[in-house]
This record gives sequence, structure tokens and C-alpha cells, in this order.
Amino acid sequence: MIHQSRFDSVNIPDDVSLTDFVLSKVHRHRDKPFMIDSADGSVITFGETRQLIHNVVFNLINEHEFGCGQVMAILLPNVTLYPILYLGIARSGGASSTINPLYTDEEIKKQLITSNARFIVTNTANQEKVLKSITGTSVEKVFVIGGDSSKNTLPISSLLKDINVTHLLPKNVKNPKKHIVCIPFSSGTTGVNKGVLISHYNIISNLCQAEVYGQVTDKDVMIGFLPYFHIYGQILIMLQSLYSGATIVNVEKFDFDVFLKLIEKYKITHAKIVPPVMLQFAKHPNLDHYNLSSLKRLFCGAAPLSGELTSIVHQRLPGVDIVQAYGMTELATAVTCAESHKARDGSAGILMPNVQMKIIDLTGSDVEGYNKEGELAFKTPSAMLGYLNNEEATQSTIVDGWLHTGDIGYIDKDGYVYVVDRVKELIKYKGFQVPPAELEGLLLKHECIQDCAVVGVPDEAAGELPKAFVVKKQGHDLNEEQVISYIAQHVNPQKKIRMVQFIDSIPKSATGKILRRLLRTSQVSKL
Ligand code: ATP
Ligand code: MG
Repeated sequence: MIHQSRFDSVNIPDDVSLTDFVLSKVHRHRDKPFMIDSADGSVITFGETRQLIHNVVFNLINEHEFGCGQVMAILLPNVTLYPILYLGIARSGGASSTINPLYTDEEIKKQLITSNARFIVTNTANQEKVLKSITGTSVEKVFVIGGDSSKNTLPISSLLKDINVTHLLPKNVKNPKKHIVCIPFSSGTTGVNKGVLISHYNIISNLCQAEVYGQVTDKDVMIGFLPYFHIYGQILIMLQSLYSGATIVNVEKFDFDVFLKLIEKYKITHAKIVPPVMLQFAKHPNLDHYNLSSLKRLFCGAAPLSGELTSIVHQRLPGVDIVQAYGMTELATAVTCAESHKARDGSAGILMPNVQMKIIDLTGSDVEGYNKEGELAFKTPSAMLGYLNNEEATQSTIVDGWLHTGDIGYIDKDGYVYVVDRVKELIKYKGFQVPPAELEGLLLKHECIQDCAVVGVPDEAAGELPKAFVVKKQGHDLNEEQVISYIAQHVNPQKKIRMVQFIDSIPKSATGKILRRLLRTSQVSKL
């Protein structure tokens, strides 16, 4: 059974580069701030951004002979130059390989080798680490923001310098459907992360699909704290805002109090967040110390967000629309999104335009009907071309044009999609499958619990036992028995929590995911 989107199909241009597409409406708001740096208050307008992108394209092609089929790595926090470099690389015909700036030199080296990067751009804070990482890779040039020509690096001015020519930039992206624009890496939540081949057309598609919702417009002020190296921040904050005329306030390092202050100071209207931030909105004691009246929408994705948590935040922020979206790096980015808070709490929304979905059961057959769980699979114009250097993984993920997500979910009769958990995370208790996300949602409702995570621990008799890791709220006391009996009141006996461990904090990735594999191996500090 194939589920179709409720929306009419949207037209997706297939004859334009990502850069030209994203800049297509800039003339309407040339002098408006595009990015504001929250650290020093500096501002760059839409018009200046476009000019600098064109400089980068010209300088890359003419000064550095860079272009089609070549890769340039970007290792930067969320800075104003990020979209400029990214879209400059794209328009030159090359591709970006975006790297987590917290990586060690060994991790950087690995990504440089896998993506066969010819150049890398970084900032002075990361310069030493990057220089260490490039030995034994194919990197020829290191550009440094804030750097000079010393230490085997090139200053960023060699990419940004003004071009005094009026002739048009060459048309280097001839087939946007097949031309790779970036090679982001998945989050590595379940194991080794994978490089994903994304075309110009893939991203243009997702921007067109998201536009139908009208959630990001030139009236919006967004907050840019989710990392631009990851697909979510990259497409749905950095590029969607530039395309739509929304201003972004960039944040390099996340702190919830600072985040609230910035909402107040810059009158943020729309915040794209991840469940750990939603948790803070639910549990932070002093939300009312800040004037958050400008905030119209919280948009949440990247990991399961329970209906329980959503409704707590609804009560604390009654005027704010809370919408959830679901996606993955391989789907560049989202395939479902809610239109407004009228959507059911806990649902990841409805299928975006031009998206088809089917649900596959454990035997590999299509699930018929509604409210029945199985693995979600999608067809969408934003789906990746394949994994980098991994034909086997590509073949097993894209089968007959359907991209298999590895996530369990279901759809109701009205078209709302619910993502239950990852297939890999399901706890197998005596032949029953227990989704940890469901138990986590219940635990977070408890007034003494600040944060939690549930994993399966091996057990000879049962296969696996659901174990909860719990962070107590400050000033509250709670024991193992109380946690176990609280959950037992809410779920059927197979889903009961069998063990509890109290810890200081739950390990999470920069992209908002619980790192359950660390909990399984007990690499956590005990109370
Ligand atoms: P890796 O594939 O390397 O293990 P990852 O899957 O976490 O890492 P991403 O591509 O960043 O890497 O994340 C996509 C995954 O995030 C999805 O497959 C899904 O498990 C989860 N996810 C995203 N949005 C939602 C959502 N709204 N609800 C539940 N899960 C979500
Ligand atoms: Mg994944």
C-alpha cells in the first residue's frame, strides 16, 4: 500500500544550480540582514552575501583551478562565511564535505581521505588541528578565516577578494539531478557514520517541498545554533533562510539561557530545534524570566519527540506553534512535517509534497491499512544518489527506488505519520519488541526526572531487559523502585522497566541524538 502526500505536487526546477536557485529571490531583500553574529553583533546583508558567493566562485575557478568533480572540505562552526563558502563551492561545480569542528585530527583525516578533498577551509581556532590532519591526504591548500599567509595556509581573502570583472560565471552545473553538491555524513548514532551523495536537485527539491508549508518567510528571524555541517541545519536553517529571505542569528556554542536571551534580544520568531532543547523548554525553571513573546514556532526534528513532552511545552508556551518533522541525511532532509500544532502531538506530521511512503513488515511485505507498525520507506526527489564509496550499503538501502530508513513507524487514517523508533534500537524482551522512545516519553513526564534514556541489556532468560538511565531533577529524590512502579502503571507487562541506574547526564550527539551505544557499554559517570 503506497501512501501519497495530501499536498498537490510542486514543480521542482531541474535546470538550475543550487546556488542560483537559493539566490533567486535575493533582489527582493538585498539590503536586509541575512546573518547576524550573536558573538559580536556583526551583520551581513542578503546582497553582500550574494556578492561574496560570486567572488568565491570566480576565485575558486580562476585563481585556484578548482571545479567540477572536486571536493572542498569545510570545518567551521556556524559563522557568516559558512553559506558563502558552501554556495561558492557549489556554483564552481565542486562539492562540499562538511566536517564537525569538534572532530579530532584523526577523525578529520578519515573524512578528508574518504571524500578525497582537494582543499579545506577552517578558522584560526582549528588551524593547528587541521594542519596535523592533512598529512597523507590529498589536501593541497588550507584556507583559514582570520589567518595570514604563514604556516602553509592561505588567508580567506584569496577566496573572497573582489572580482572586477563583469562577465558571467561559467555554467558549471550542467545536470543538477546527477551533479553532487555536498557529501554530508550521517550522525554516526548507530555505528560508523556514512558519507552521503547529495545532488543540487536533491536540495532544491527539499526547499520547494518545505516552501509549501509557508513556515519560513521574509518576516522570520531564525536562530542558527544547530550545526551547519549536519544536513538539518545546513538545509533547513542555512539554505532555507537564504532562499526565503529570513534573517538568521548565528550561535557558535549552545547554552539554553543564552538561547532564551537571544530570543528576547533579537525577537526570534522561529526556532528550529532538537528534542534535547524541547526538553529544556519543558523543564527549565525560569522560562518566565525572559520575554519570549516574539516566538511563533518551535520546529523539532532529528530524534523522537513524544506527545507527552510536546504537551508539557504547549502548556508552558501556549502561544507557540510546535511542529515536528522527520528526516535523515539520506533524505536530504525532511519527508514529513506538521502544518501546525493542530496536528496531533507526538506525530511527525504529514507527507511533504512529492513524497510517497510505504511501510514494510518484518517479513518484507507491505503493511496494508492504518495504525500498523513497520519499517518506513520513501520515494522523494530529495533522496540521495547513494553512499560514498559503499555500493553494497547503497544497494541494500535503496531497493526498487524505495529508500529504506531503518526506522519503525505507522500512519493514521488522516495521514499523520508517527515515528516509533529505530529498528536497531528496539529492545527484544521475550520475543516482544519494546521501543525505548515510548518509555522515555513516559519517564520525562515524571516531575522528579530531568532526563532519561532506555536501552536493552543482555539477559539469558529474556533476551534483553529494558533498563532506564535516569537523571534526577535537582532537589528531588527518587529511587529505583519508584521508577519501576511508575512505568508499570502506564504500560503492559512486557514493556516494564526492569533496571534503573541514576546518572549525571545523558550522552547526546551534537545533532540531538541519545548515544545509547555509550550507555550500553556504560561509558557514563555514576551518581
Ligand atoms: P547513523 O545513520 O550514522 O547511525 P543517524 O541515523 O542518527 O546516524 P542522521 O541522518 O543525522 O544520522 O539522523 C537520521 C535519523 O534520525 C533517522 O533515521 C531517525 O532515526 C532519526 N529521526 C529524525 N527525525 C526524527 C523524528 N521526528 N522522530 C524520530 N526519529 C527521528
Ligand atoms: Mg541513519
